[in-house]
Amino acid sequence: MLRKLISYIFGKNNKVKFRATEIRDQFTPVNTPIENNIDAKCPYCRHELEKIPQRKTKCPFCKQFMYIRTLPKTRERVLVSEQRKKEIDEEWYLSEMMERYSISKEEYEATKSRLAEKFKCQPRNNDIWWTLFNRKRIVEISKEHMGYYRMITYEMAQLLISEGRDKAALRFLFEVCYLDCNDYHYFEDKSRIVAPAILSDINRIAKENHITKDQLKEKYFKEITGIARDIYPYTKYPVDKSFTIFEDQLT
Ligand SMILES: [Zn+2]
Repeated sequence: MLRKLISYIFGKNNKVKFRATEIRDQFTPVNTPIENNIDAKCPYCRHELEKIPQRKTKCPFCKQFMYIRTLPKTRERVLVSEQRKKEIDEEWYLSEMMERYSISKEEYEATKSRLAEKFKCQPRNNDIWWTLFNRKRIVEISKEHMGYYRMITYEMAQLLISEGRDKAALRFLFEVCYLDCNDYHYFEDKSRIVAPAILSDINRIAKENHITKDQLKEKYFKEITGIARDIYPYTKYPVDKSFTIFEDQLT
């Protein structure tokens, strides 16, 4: 099961090798057990709480929502405000992505500085990641590391989704579908199959944006025919045939 799960996440053509230790030393969590060190006080009004909340809870005194999170560096569990929750989630994302794609802290910081100069203000995290992923994707495809390329394409779709740019995300999700149909994944049975997470994203976007199955098909053909021709010659599977592989799973 675990292998299968890893297979969904990582690509086929290149097994993921983490430069884990050096990056972890700079930024990421240490593997110590989770410590419960929760201060049972509301992070906003500091009122003493009757019991420690287990999940998102409204403070009975100030009526604001508080959250339970684990800190990436110390693995300490903490009760935090909405703003702090966002910061912690970003720290987790940062450490996970740096480890998964071997991005160093220096590379991240250099990208951040370049964007700050360009935008004349501090860039948003999504802008930094978009730039890093874009660059990384070109590097991976130039090395014919299609598995990594697929993973990064998926991350870019997720960035767009997190910004509510669902229609723009579709193009990236379609590309992942096509790569999966070309067997650039790592499924045990070696059959051409699109990862369920991708299809559920596509189905949700289609439903929420009133996109019909025919429209999806038309968009897929348009996007993928161009991509398959121009971007990578490593994909061999015919575009029209690829659509039939997951067509039945579109709702
Ligand atoms: Zn409160």
